[in-house]
Amino acid sequence: MREDPILIVENLKKYFPLGGGFLKKPTAQVKAVDGANLVVKRGETLALVGESGCGKTTMGRCIVRLDEPTEGKIYFEKENILGYRDKKLRQLRRDMQVIFQDPFSSLNPRKTVEYIIGEGFVIHRLYSKRERQERVSELMELVGLGPELRGRYPHEFSGGQRQRICVARAIALQPKLVIADEPVSALDVSIQAQILNLLVDLQEKLALTYLFISHDLSVVRHISNRVAVMYLGHIVEQASREVLFKEPAHPYTEALMAAVPVADPFRKKHAIHLEGDVPSPLNPPSGCSFHPRCRYFQDVCRKTPPVMEEIDAGHEVACHFPRIT
Ligand code: SF4
Repeated sequence: MREDPILIVENLKKYFPLGGGFLKKPTAQVKAVDGANLVVKRGETLALVGESGCGKTTMGRCIVRLDEPTEGKIYFEKENILGYRDKKLRQLRRDMQVIFQDPFSSLNPRKTVEYIIGEGFVIHRLYSKRERQERVSELMELVGLGPELRGRYPHEFSGGQRQRICVARAIALQPKLVIADEPVSALDVSIQAQILNLLVDLQEKLALTYLFISHDLSVVRHISNRVAVMYLGHIVEQASREVLFKEPAHPYTEALMAAVPVADPFRKKHAIHLEGDVPSPLNPPSGCSFHPRCRYFQDVCRKTPPVMEEIDAGHEVACHFPRIT
């Protein structure tokens, strides 16, 4: 991992309008991402974690321009990509790839594996037909699939094999950044480890950078270098994996960590119960948006939103009363 950032996200907002219509203003807005900041360093795996509905996937979709942000800036290799159109956007699609959660629905059932993995070569007019076939075979070997299977259709593969096909498709154009959105959560636990190990191997071989989106902290512990915790559209804590799992400073992170199972039966953990669900992003709470669920809540938390501050080198937290040990 190098220290120079490959991706910088500044004050990113994505609001979805509700109601309204032709010549009518929207009646409300869902604030899926509400001023999030993030830095991804070249060669690292940054995990973006949080409960369902906290805005992780929307943030990932905005970064790859599948959703257009409402406000903010996204710098990829020092250039703000939000103004990109046509040729520059096509190049960006080569440099940034996505692995989606569900390998069952993200593959076209009517196309062969050879077509699916090699589609990017056709779109970007790379290689001759013969070279494309060779390249697809190499990619299939790289992800642990026999090249002799390239004429088969997605339904002829198991869930783990399908996710390998998705990985091969994602790395085909030699991207610099891969956004993996819950890439193993639809798979059996035994298969999850195989796919995670594959991602780690490929990162070493191809010098990839990952933004790894997940709600599963056991998975994140296995794969990440650093972790960013998201709650209701905001990043509330960022630190190295070691620091975050050992000394979480934000009460939300503390509760998430306390819920991660430990393998050692003699080591006791005190579960911290998070009351209720993530509030609706349609009408987020005032001040600190975590305050209705926080056991350390004080009056100021309801009135004043906390700002992100560095409490130690590389460890940032947005809380008026961080848990500093
Ligand atoms: Fe809890 Fe207050 Fe910190 Fe929010 S700012 S997490 S309510 S202590």
